[in-house]
Amino acid sequence: MTLAHGRPYLAIPGPSVMPDRVLNAMHQPAPNIYEGALVEMVRGLVPDLKAVARTDGHVAIYVSNGHGAWEAAASNTIAPGEKVLVLSTGRFAAGWGVVFDRIGAKTEVIDFGKHATVDLARVEAALAADAEHEIKAVVTVHVDTSTSVKNDIAAIRGVIDKLGHPALYMVDCIASLAVDRFEMDAWGVDVMVAASQKGLMTPPGLGFVFFNDKAAGRQAKTASFYWDWAPRANPEMFYQYFGGTAPTHHLLGLRAALDMIAEEGGVEAVWARHATLARAAWAAFEAWGQGGGELEMNISDTALRSHAVTALRLAGDHGTRLRQWVEQNAGLTLGIGLGMAEPGAPDAGRYFRVGHMGHINAHMLMGALGVMEAGMVALGIPHGPGALAAAAAVIAEA
Ligand SMILES: *Cc1c(COP(=O)(O)O)cnc(C)c1O
Repeated sequence: MTLAHGRPYLAIPGPSVMPDRVLNAMHQPAPNIYEGALVEMVRGLVPDLKAVARTDGHVAIYVSNGHGAWEAAASNTIAPGEKVLVLSTGRFAAGWGVVFDRIGAKTEVIDFGKHATVDLARVEAALAADAEHEIKAVVTVHVDTSTSVKNDIAAIRGVIDKLGHPALYMVDCIASLAVDRFEMDAWGVDVMVAASQKGLMTPPGLGFVFFNDKAAGRQAKTASFYWDWAPRANPEMFYQYFGGTAPTHHLLGLRAALDMIAEEGGVEAVWARHATLARAAWAAFEAWGQGGGELEMNISDTALRSHAVTALRLAGDHGTRLRQWVEQNAGLTLGIGLGMAEPGAPDAGRYFRVGHMGHINAHMLMGALGVMEAGMVALGIPHGPGALAAAAAVIAEA
């Protein structure tokens, strides 16, 4: 017998759970892309997106995933031969670095490993050594979805400012936008990339690049006609927003998602919900790891943990077995471990991730935790007691 039949919960972490309201908004005939309701609607999307990103700057929207937004950001700011400093705390910052390599930039990667945040002293040393200001951009992630570390974006800006270094500061918020507190302008971020399918609760297919006037002023760039952000941010004709036909149905879905964020009380309320649900999840993970329990969170310092996703490990191949058990028996799909071990390596079966971002509430999280416990019991995976009570206590206090 399986108890998986019913509404599935995809907690991988992205794509995240898509609200029915978003899907229903997309379920309609093709709208006119030359005049009328869609054209009006897109004008209203722009300020709402900027409000979520906490910026008065510009936004360019691409028909792309996050990788497309990475390439857009890189190619609009950097010319071949220019130097870029990449601060890597997992798979994703490193991946963005490769995009800079491929447009011909000279990347210098500082790798802070899989369990730590960016070390400010090392950033300061790297920038201080660049007396000629050859480094044109400092590139990092807010939340690295592979390790679930959350970097202190304002503190890194503090280091750049302390040295008076003119490099652009570019941050990937693909996992964290509308999940973890992020203040683009207040934290001094020049370029920020995001995508539709995580905190924004919309199917994959839209990439966003937010940028300020300093970034807009960069003359050196490699962007081709399609990737050029200028017409997208300041279109004279409607088609220029998207470099061609508008991604009509994704835009309708995004409109519904932004309405949901506004109705919840704005992005601050969304951040607060995610913070509480993350603390509830961590309370359960903590309890499972006590008293001979195997479970460990990848990031031990709570201040450095993302509210979007938690990377976890068990012993042996218990991570993979637990994932398979909850999917087959309970309708919950957890995320694979990403970037923690090479696929096929002896320890690859240890790692997995729980996504807790986007359209999730207390009962979904408690349900996920409950069936994870059932799976550990069924599989004989050692775990400490009291996890569900600990999570419930966090929710009760909120
Ligand atoms: C998901 C993710 C990406 C990649 O986005 P795609 O849409 O798969 O291209 C990049 N960076 C971070 C931090 C992510 O979480």
